Amino acid sequence: MGLLNSLFGSGKKEVKPTIYTEQTCNSCGDVVKRPFEDGDYVFKPGLACGKCSATTLITAVYGQYPPEKH
Ligand SMILES: [Zn+2]
Repeated sequence: MGLLNSLFGSGKKEVKPTIYTEQTCNSCGDVVKRPFEDGDYVFKPGLACGKCSATTLITAVYGQYPPEKH
């Protein structure tokens, strides 16, 4: 239990970033941002393009924090 607590924090309210994956179409260049899925990595072939059904390539994986609430 102690290990889990040290890995995931113990009581601090930290906002975790949401991980996104960006895939770029090899044909029409359309860029689609979608939630990260297990196994995604840069330069991995992505899903078929939603516009022209050509193959896509994952060109970015990044975390983004939700907007801060005041
Ligand atoms: Zn396309």
